[in-house]
Amino acid sequence: MGNDIKLLKQDYQSPRWSHEIIDCSMPMSFDTYSKCSYDCLYCFAFFQKSHCTTGYGKPELLRSVNPDRVIKLFESALKNDTAKLNLDQKQFIPYIQARRIMQWGGLADEFDEWERRFGITLELLKYFDSIDYPLSFSTKAAWWTKDERYMSLFKKHTHNWHVKISIITADKQRARAMEKGVSTPEQRLDAVKRLAEIGIHVTLRLRPYIIGVSGDWKELIGKAKQAGADSVTVEFFCMDARANDGLKSRYEAMSKICGFDIYRFYMDNSKQNGYKRLSRKIKAPIIHEMKAYVHNLGMRFYVSDMYCRECNDGCNCCGVPPEWAVSQSGNIGNAILIAKEKGVVHFSDIAESIGKYFGDFKWHDAAVIIRTLTIAARWIIKRRWRTGSEIIGITLKALIHLLKDTAAF
Ligand code: SF4
Repeated sequence: MGNDIKLLKQDYQSPRWSHEIIDCSMPMSFDTYSKCSYDCLYCFAFFQKSHCTTGYGKPELLRSVNPDRVIKLFESALKNDTAKLNLDQKQFIPYIQARRIMQWGGLADEFDEWERRFGITLELLKYFDSIDYPLSFSTKAAWWTKDERYMSLFKKHTHNWHVKISIITADKQRARAMEKGVSTPEQRLDAVKRLAEIGIHVTLRLRPYIIGVSGDWKELIGKAKQAGADSVTVEFFCMDARANDGLKSRYEAMSKICGFDIYRFYMDNSKQNGYKRLSRKIKAPIIHEMKAYVHNLGMRFYVSDMYCRECNDGCNCCGVPPEWAVSQSGNIGNAILIAKEKGVVHFSDIAESIGKYFGDFKWHDAAVIIRTLTIAARWIIKRRWRTGSEIIGITLKALIHLLKDTAAF
């Protein structure tokens, strides 16, 4: 590892706010590595990162976080000594100071083969153990649950470290075809067992649910329950229709495994533009049946899909035990639960948490930019300005108006 580590550029920026911040009860999301060593055909992160200029494919692009930088952020926040933090880091201070839970493994697997080689997650786990910080992990890796260096730390955090193990089918062949390089469903169920045996709360992460692959969910959930999982979280596969040839070839490979043309199916059954999510009509019967089945087994049930959020047993749809009270409640998922209980919900019901933890989030700046451009565009169109200098002039005027406006923003 000594020489290897020199090959790793340690400038990856994490934590970050999840882009699902308005809908997430633990939006401070952390990834150890810039990319994942596994190769799941359905990978959401692959789709996301493929749209960037550098793409996802080149091995030399692997980066990791700089552990010293991460430690400095948490140390400074907890000691309220934040003068040396930059603006990006400062926005996390209230959230960290309130010791809200951090989710680990949003866009890459923190226990993948890169971790086996470089051990950056382990290095950071030792730090988070020392400050007893609440964490929720998401992984498909099983090897680390047989490694005492990791398990000795997890043993000490049965009260605030939660693990989601992702499995989409109990079928070994289908899983292997869909998730290249990942341990088998059986090996992952063994990982659930090892974690549950030391007292860790484990959630079966049945995400993404793929029609044509995840139909054996009753068998899978039954096995997870037997292994010691106490909850299930589900979300259906979403298909990005804005696909280049590389992404389309993934859909073709998925179609072969599913037994139907997945691209056509999503195009025909999703009303959304771009990111195709299927219809509620298709998903709701499966989710409702699953909820009843999971409750029958005495497990908690969660849905992180955009549909059927009302089926959640708590506002944290990843399955973090509600009694830990470490999630933030200023999100749409919680608003839906309040509405379900009271028949009505107001923004004020969730506003306190939003103001408390995300006051420094750049909502304001984003709003200013949008308003600036809108006003400028409106003026330009209205007055039919024709020259560049006139456009610049009017944009400046619009900005002055806007600055007056935003005094009361
Ligand atoms: S394990 Fe997760 S992050 Fe890694 S390739 Fe699979 S879906 Fe993507």
